[in-house]
Amino acid sequence: GTIRPRSVAAHAKRLDMPKYEAHVNRTQGERLRIAIIGAGIAGMTAAAALADQNHAVVVFEKSRGPGGRTATRRAGEIRFDHGAQYATSSDPRFTAQLHAWEEAGVVEEWPGQIHDLATRTSKTGKTRWLGTMGMNAICKHLAEGIDLRRSCRITALERVDAGWRLCDELDALPERERIFDNVIVTAPAPQAGDLLGPVHHEFAQMAKGITSDPCWALMAVTNTDTSPPWRGAFADSNVLGWLATHPLDNGHQQWVVHATSEWSRQHLEDADEAVAGLLTQALRETSEVGTIVSANVHRWRYARVVNPEARGALFDAETGLAVAGDWLGGGAKIESAWLSGCAAAGLILRSQLSAA
Ligand code: FAD
Repeated sequence: GTIRPRSVAAHAKRLDMPKYEAHVNRTQGERLRIAIIGAGIAGMTAAAALADQNHAVVVFEKSRGPGGRTATRRAGEIRFDHGAQYATSSDPRFTAQLHAWEEAGVVEEWPGQIHDLATRTSKTGKTRWLGTMGMNAICKHLAEGIDLRRSCRITALERVDAGWRLCDELDALPERERIFDNVIVTAPAPQAGDLLGPVHHEFAQMAKGITSDPCWALMAVTNTDTSPPWRGAFADSNVLGWLATHPLDNGHQQWVVHATSEWSRQHLEDADEAVAGLLTQALRETSEVGTIVSANVHRWRYARVVNPEARGALFDAETGLAVAGDWLGGGAKIESAWLSGCAAAGLILRSQLSAA
């Protein structure tokens, strides 16, 4: 046949728009109140999918903003992506999502070269994506229009007649805002294990069986005349695993440096100043950096999952409790967290449809 163009305005004239809008926005069955613990990739992905289906979603995040391990720290005009460096994809569903985010201006392809310092070769082949305004751009984008309670640490879950009751550290939530039909726990596995312990023995045991490697991250600014020919590099030292750098407008150079898992474990409880000293020394030994203008560190206690499960998400249909996170999405990556967030939302939606 023939496909003729028709403008959106022309379409609108042919439809009863209020009726059409009510149809599109209808909820299949009852409008659920859903609490999501954690505003990382898994939590925000589930939140956006469930809010899209017109459910009443509230996300609780203990930090000051969304992102989790895709965090971005600001120091004046400088943005440091001190957690995840980039997203890669091996699942076509996540690849399609990355392209959609690219079109929306949320992500862009990694600019510049990535080197392997051991072999002195460039890494090619894989497309790497980073947030256009920092890695937390993805979670910020997913959080648009979502009720996100920042600086709100959930300390306990309780099973009550009306569903689930949440306790927060500051005891600041009004009683009516604590009750939910469903809860999705997306904290890193060890923290999820603590929350789940008193309410779901089986899920808690699974979470407690997951091991995570720590990672100390250095955020530094240097006064260097020259930049390395790469923007990211896998390092070959016992101390450093990864370096990312680019020049700033004022002629300085900014750095994010990740210590290896082994080194981070050995120095896990060291003071920040001591770690900053050792990591800047290692940076100097790896690259010509000139004068160090500033250096701060961040300890990621549960940076990378060592033994992930490929279950998607956990769901107890009887109580409406779900668990999601990278550790259930089959990897230690942004992609795994995204797949798990999708799975958790899907399990809740499907259980509601089968109950209707
Ligand atoms: P998280 O991002 O950890 O989100 C969980 C959220 O729950 C956090 O925001 C936390 O504050 C919150 N929370 C926990 N407990 C509570 C509570 N009780 N109440 C309220 N909120 C709570 N992946 C890649 O794909 N590419 C990379 O290059 C890469 N590099 C990495 C480098 C580092 C240093 C680190 C740390 C990670 C890296 N990763 C990388 C892994 C990737 O960041 C994670 O797999 C992914 O972001 C995990 O998302 P998540 O939603 O499962 O968990």
